[in-house]
Amino acid sequence: MEEPEAGSECAIGAAAAAGPMADTQYILPNDIGVSSLDCREAFRLLSSTERLYAHYLSRAAWYGGLAVLLQTSPEAPYIYALLSRLFRAQDPDQLRQHALAEGLTEEEYQAFLVYAAGVYSNMGNYKSFGDTKFVPNLPKEKLERVILGSEAAQQHPEEVRGLWQTCGELMFSLELGLRHLGLGKEGITTYFSGNCTMEDAKLAQDFLDSQNLSAYNTRLFKEVGQDGKPSYEVRLASVLGTEPNLDSEMTSKLKSYEFQGSHFRVTRGDYAPILQKVVEHLGKAKAYAANSHQEQMLAQYIESFTQGSIEAHKKGSRFWIQDKGPIVESYIGFIESYRDPFGSRGEFEGFVAMVNKAMSAKFEWLVASAEQLLKELPWPPAFEKDKFLTPDFTSLDVLTFAGSGIPAGINIPNYDDLRQTEGFKNVSLGNVLAVAYTTQREKLTFLEEEDKDLYIRWKGPSFDVQVGLHELLGHGSGKLFVQDEKGAFNFDQETVINPETGEQIQSWYRSGETWDSKFSTIASSYEECRAESVGLYLCLHPQVLEIFGFEGADAEDVIYVNWLNMVRAGLLALEFYTPETSSWRQAHMQARFVILRVLLEAGEGLVTVTATTGSDGRPDARVRLDRDKIRTVGKPALERFLRRLQVLKSTGDVAGGRALYEGYAAVTDAPPECFLSLRDTVLLRKEARKLIVQPNTRLEGSEVQLLEYEASAAGLIRSFSERFLEDGPELEKILTQLATADAQFWKGPSEAPSGQA
Ligand SMILES: [Zn+2]
Repeated sequence: MEEPEAGSECAIGAAAAAGPMADTQYILPNDIGVSSLDCREAFRLLSSTERLYAHYLSRAAWYGGLAVLLQTSPEAPYIYALLSRLFRAQDPDQLRQHALAEGLTEEEYQAFLVYAAGVYSNMGNYKSFGDTKFVPNLPKEKLERVILGSEAAQQHPEEVRGLWQTCGELMFSLELGLRHLGLGKEGITTYFSGNCTMEDAKLAQDFLDSQNLSAYNTRLFKEVGQDGKPSYEVRLASVLGTEPNLDSEMTSKLKSYEFQGSHFRVTRGDYAPILQKVVEHLGKAKAYAANSHQEQMLAQYIESFTQGSIEAHKKGSRFWIQDKGPIVESYIGFIESYRDPFGSRGEFEGFVAMVNKAMSAKFEWLVASAEQLLKELPWPPAFEKDKFLTPDFTSLDVLTFAGSGIPAGINIPNYDDLRQTEGFKNVSLGNVLAVAYTTQREKLTFLEEEDKDLYIRWKGPSFDVQVGLHELLGHGSGKLFVQDEKGAFNFDQETVINPETGEQIQSWYRSGETWDSKFSTIASSYEECRAESVGLYLCLHPQVLEIFGFEGADAEDVIYVNWLNMVRAGLLALEFYTPETSSWRQAHMQARFVILRVLLEAGEGLVTVTATTGSDGRPDARVRLDRDKIRTVGKPALERFLRRLQVLKSTGDVAGGRALYEGYAAVTDAPPECFLSLRDTVLLRKEARKLIVQPNTRLEGSEVQLLEYEASAAGLIRSFSERFLEDGPELEKILTQLATADAQFWKGPSEAPSGQA
């Protein structure tokens, strides 16, 4: 699970600055914040072997990250290839001269740079945080002139024109079904062929469960035969295709099945040429591993990506968990399922990070106190794991984070069976958090004036506390009641009592069922909500604040700002709600809205959210939290809510869990808050999330160099232009070939009319 930044910051005027071109929801503004990820000091402290290890792992991550283009939209790989060709032939400054000569204004050219930087940062043309599409904020005809008259087009006229014709229309289209990621009519996704519905996704999940196959590294393609009978291809990500390979556990699964009247075929070889490069660089990294855990871990990842085996990835993850406190930390694979509309397919990500010693020390203290702090949580001991598995919770500085976005913290692996038996690791990404902290006073929306200074002073420290509690005691707490394949229970059926009903336990997880497979569409957000609630709840504990070095009035301020930040985030969350489909697009933000609702429900003036008019005459809003009522009103409300969340999770009570969670997550115009109307205010006053520029590593002789780039859209584009110096054109060809091979499944870009709008 990933922890994003504390929520997007908001700015008055962001909407106005966007101009009349497009709905501001669907563009990135020209004044978007861009920050560089600072990891110089941590990199400097690495030995030359550690640098080589970090370098090859980074290479593997960057290659694998390109698969995200194929996991996002049909047109994303073409857009990426087109942008990469443009900027390889002319860097952003050279292209500017050409663009101005073609009649673009400076603003229009800047809009194009911001768009390109956005595509690179999100690995596609949909925002990784919120899943909405973004389009270039300049006239399409002008962009066409720049592209077709560019140096790249002069060098390779047919290729560049071909790419533009394939993706130009879709790049700008804001047709209803293309505005968000989603299944069937709800949106676009390339995890499923365009004709798949939620029903197909459910059937496929049942099929996968019946065969003990994980969905994490799969995509689903449906074809309907002449007899009207559907036929599904479950395609696994792997280097190998159909060639027989006798030694793998996977080969026996690669065949056809009849399942509930439908035909299923399990195949593999998705993203093969990309994974080939991943495997090659993991092999090189292995030579510089610090210990045998890392070696065995990499060997299993190589096996996983070669064969398409999640079992091998689990084995690798097991070695990874055992590799406690490494200097160079990493994880790679099909990990987070947030962007699969069904919630079980993983998006590729790979990261490499280095130890940040000061923060790690605080988190170690928290780990040492975990067993005692878990007792403070509001559920009976039987609902807690039999033995708390001490996770390895460290603070790291990111060197490389490839995929669709950079979270501020990570709690992995996501495999429930491993989490229950082997444990997991918690990683707080210190230099990513530092980027999120830099909040300017004038960009603080929805707070009372008198709260702003306090908020700015304590937001960073309070967020450290919240992240530590969320990742460690949030995701790390609670037990699932399971009956194994032999029929044995991991709880005492006679004595364990459900505190909500006063009865014995009536439901549990059967063999093969997991939290994600059972709670599917609400699993991610529900779990984030549980972890966030644990953070709010336990930050009231004096011992926790002592660990982080706060006492007295400072400790009270940290608590107040942590709670205030949650309440404000609950309001900001409305940005990630789509009224047309009554659906949420971001797990953490939905979770924060739910917590806001719970605290509002507590009443007694603990929290108020009111619509106001800003000094600019436009709609505004204020959130207030009564700090004197946090312990007397807030804590008991949170306690009741947390217990219900945990009991429903432990007992696998999907119906009860849905009723509870979806009840709080519903957005209506009911007074007094009128959240649907407030959503318009939130959209009006929001600021786009910052873009983060990452460095490159390069091998020069036997030494690895760190290459850094300026914090601007142009700097971000340059970092990508220099990322694949040797094989950029080859990669672009691979990506477009893979996209073209499946284009029929979305009747997509190949049939789109050419760009003559
Ligand atoms: Zn989380």
